[in-house]
Amino acid sequence: MERGPRSLPYLRAAAAGVAGLIVQRSGSSTLLRSYQTARLRALLRHSYEMVPFYRQRFQSAGFHPDQFRTLEDLQRVPITRKSDLRLAAEQDALAQDCDPARLIRYGTGGSTGEPTEVRFTRFEDLLLRVMRMQVMMGFGLRLWDRRAALVYSDGSHRTSLLKRLGILRNQTIHAHTPSEQMRTELRHLRPNVIRGYPSIVASLGDKLTDEDRNLIRPRFITTDSAKLTDLARSRIEKSFGAPVFDVYDCYECNVIAYQCPRSKQYHVLDASVVVEVLHGDRPALPGESGEIAFTSLHTWAAPLIRYMPGDLVERGVAHCSCGAPNSCLANITGRVQDRFLLPDGQTIHPGFLAASIYPLCPVLRSYQIVQEAIDRVIVKLQPIPGVQVPAGKLDAARRGMARDLGEGVMLRIDFVDEIPPEPNGKFRPYRCDVKNDERHPSEPPEKLWSRN
Ligand SMILES: [Zn+2]
Repeated sequence: MERGPRSLPYLRAAAAGVAGLIVQRSGSSTLLRSYQTARLRALLRHSYEMVPFYRQRFQSAGFHPDQFRTLEDLQRVPITRKSDLRLAAEQDALAQDCDPARLIRYGTGGSTGEPTEVRFTRFEDLLLRVMRMQVMMGFGLRLWDRRAALVYSDGSHRTSLLKRLGILRNQTIHAHTPSEQMRTELRHLRPNVIRGYPSIVASLGDKLTDEDRNLIRPRFITTDSAKLTDLARSRIEKSFGAPVFDVYDCYECNVIAYQCPRSKQYHVLDASVVVEVLHGDRPALPGESGEIAFTSLHTWAAPLIRYMPGDLVERGVAHCSCGAPNSCLANITGRVQDRFLLPDGQTIHPGFLAASIYPLCPVLRSYQIVQEAIDRVIVKLQPIPGVQVPAGKLDAARRGMARDLGEGVMLRIDFVDEIPPEPNGKFRPYRCDVKNDERHPSEPPEKLWSRN
């Protein structure tokens, strides 16, 4: 019998993946849940039979795929941390019926200090891209739109058939391009849609002239790959005069969730991933923060089951007010590793501190929260030149952050002219300079979250 991506189980999975595009649009949460259950059952069985890494872990946990009947049973499956997969031998983490030489590979995680490689069959990669495109269409992308992507890549130089037909045209502009040149290219391109990292699009927006704005008039802008702070959002919307839709994605499974244009909650792409928010060992309640674990339904060559990429999110309400059938995340807080460990042993994510800065956003160009020592946090504020920072609001921000940090932490607010990006060119709104070997994701759960 033939094995591998052209064998019957894979072809069946591929057909089910395509059906997922229809299920995603169906508007029925019952259909979405039963689709997820069926795909999970098939994926768990495949992983048990074909992927030594998972077979061994399932067996150690006393789990067999036959025990999976409802979505709740997923909690019986062991979780997979990024480090578990990184330490596994490649032949153990890949399905034995796939030829490793034929897989598409992406390197990821340079900025997190945990470099990992993700692997897909060509079909899996294509399906995830099509699903992303479906999300973009939901935002209002049209087939003949011109798109500009401001990203850390030079893009593909291949002239695809679609490109020649003028369909879904996309021009990549490297994020390192000087802003003057970027503006020239965008004036020439006149994109209908702009995509980019939040900090890159925001700082470009600050430099737009009125003449630029006459020519660069996107209908909407999407951000991804990094935390979109409220400040970056308001800067972008103001300078481009267009709404921003944030996409929560990762290399491992492409889109995880995307922002609802109406409620600002994040709709999970349920037809592609099963998302759990874990508060320690139990599922987080709506409105509660936790670490995300996702299971990618359509990656069979190198499965990701209850995989924790190290992100903190806030679980959303059961159903979005817009009526969409998707499950929801209320907020993407940031990376687990950005949390600050405080003198009393508690941890806090600086995203919570940033909430106190938000009232100052109209007068700020940028901010950064840095933990320099376990008992010292510096907040750098870069005001818009020539604009006065209201003393009352500054005082309130200081009090709010001091309250969240608790006793024994010195808080200093510095006004600066510029906040330089990291050596890799990316801007980080939060940084922790404290070297601490105990800063490991498997800390006891009671210490994991903010004190509120
Ligand atoms: Zn919604």
